Amino acid sequence: MVATTEEVLELHGRVRACTACPLHLTRIQAVPGYGPVTARVMAVGEAPGENEDREGKPFVGAAGRLLTSLLESVGLDRRDIYITNIVKCRPPRNRDPEPIEVESCSHFLDEQIELLKPDVILLLGRHALTRLLPGAGGISRLHGERLHHNDRVFVPLYHPAAALYNAALKETLEEDMRRVRGYLNDAEATRARRAGGATASELRTVASAPGGDQMDLF
Ligand code: URA
Repeated sequence: MVATTEEVLELHGRVRACTACPLHLTRIQAVPGYGPVTARVMAVGEAPGENEDREGKPFVGAAGRLLTSLLESVGLDRRDIYITNIVKCRPPRNRDPEPIEVESCSHFLDEQIELLKPDVILLLGRHALTRLLPGAGGISRLHGERLHHNDRVFVPLYHPAAALYNAALKETLEEDMRRVRGYLNDAEATRARRAGGATASELRTVASAPGGDQMDLF
């Protein structure tokens, strides 16, 4: 069953009110996640940066713009994707999140995955990879691979911020994004088969029909 808007908003409310780790003392605001409750793809980054802290939405800075254009380059619309982070509050000076911060925050991500049940989860960078697939291996070996774990499909990718000033990494990310497009086509075909032979375009029509719960969450 697809999550309801109310369920996801309730979770976002708890993220915004959270004081479980010291990051709440230095944040402007928590950044729960953003995207439609019907999203079939979830993208998980590391933690909000300065722009995200100010705007309350994930990936709105330079890395976010690169992410948007990478998605567009393979025909994906960022507005169809639910985007969030491992840690929901900005670490001071954008330092790496401390283990205790990841530990106290990660139940929110587990809940988001449980609620939205995305077909594919994009792991943006090594922090997301390590948190969601501990022990699987490093990002330099696994980037672009389709990994099955606990009945879910994960695709580790280099973090867009790492590719901002590294042309070779950006090319790799573009290549991996084309593979993601293929994985999504496969996932859509599987879902269509399970839905009793409905075509992908029929499924899209149902998902965007009035009452289809397409509301953006913020
Ligand atoms: N980098 C991240 O990992 N997350 C954001 O939301 C922004 C930049």
